Amino acid sequence: MNSLEVRQLAYAYPDGTQALYGVDLSIARGERVALLGPNGAGKTTLVMHLNGILTAGHGSVTVAGTPVRKDTLAEIRQRVGLVFQDPDDQLFMPTVRDDVAFGPANAGLRGEDLDRVVKGALERVGMLDAADRPPHHLSFGQRRRVAVATVLAMEPEILVLDEPSSNLDPAARRELAEILRSLDVTVLMVTHDLPYALELCERALILSDGVIAADAPTRTLLSDAELLARHRLELPYGFAIPVM
Ligand code: ADP
Repeated sequence: MNSLEVRQLAYAYPDGTQALYGVDLSIARGERVALLGPNGAGKTTLVMHLNGILTAGHGSVTVAGTPVRKDTLAEIRQRVGLVFQDPDDQLFMPTVRDDVAFGPANAGLRGEDLDRVVKGALERVGMLDAADRPPHHLSFGQRRRVAVATVLAMEPEILVLDEPSSNLDPAARRELAEILRSLDVTVLMVTHDLPYALELCERALILSDGVIAADAPTRTLLSDAELLARHRLELPYGFAIPVM
């Protein structure tokens, strides 16, 4: 069963702006996929459909076999782990431990079971030592890792990351890459950081003007200068695709 199935998804905002025009997309369990595209392409609108912040104007979104609908929202929000660009939108408790425990406690976990889940999630992002610290005492990169842990604690079917490398220094960027690679979870990563997409995702999609304009191995896609230019995507100055 695929982690994610999007079929003919179209959406117009209430003011009439058509943001998505029939998006088709399947992501198999365990894949890591980069979602690329210029500003205004519809990436945020697509992501907001994955956990039901927006519901399909036309078409369907299915997560591990469960359709995203008003009556399935609780289950969908557990299965789709959204990591926001700004960790401070995600962390609001007095300690790291409380933040990571929040979701599973809400889902009814208590006592030793809850402790085990929190510990496991913090271990996976290398932040167990910070469990008793207030999130605002941590560096930005550490806060982003804790934000990932809050989502992992819910054992999601798919982890959706919005610009995971933004505002990270090179070491924090690399550490997060190592963590993401070590996770045994399906990942969809929205990013403008094309080298990061290449490093982490075997497959990449270009969303452009509300449709999937390309779906290919990341290496193939980033080697196509004409395709990139057509969709306002640019590799950093001097960057060359490394030879395998
Ligand atoms: P991206 O995340 O790729 O930058 P968005 O999904 O934010 O793209 O935007 C897709 C299109 O929808 C753009 O034309 C944008 O202006 C429009 N849009 C986004 N949010 C709204 C909104 N709340 N109301 C009307 N139009 C919107």
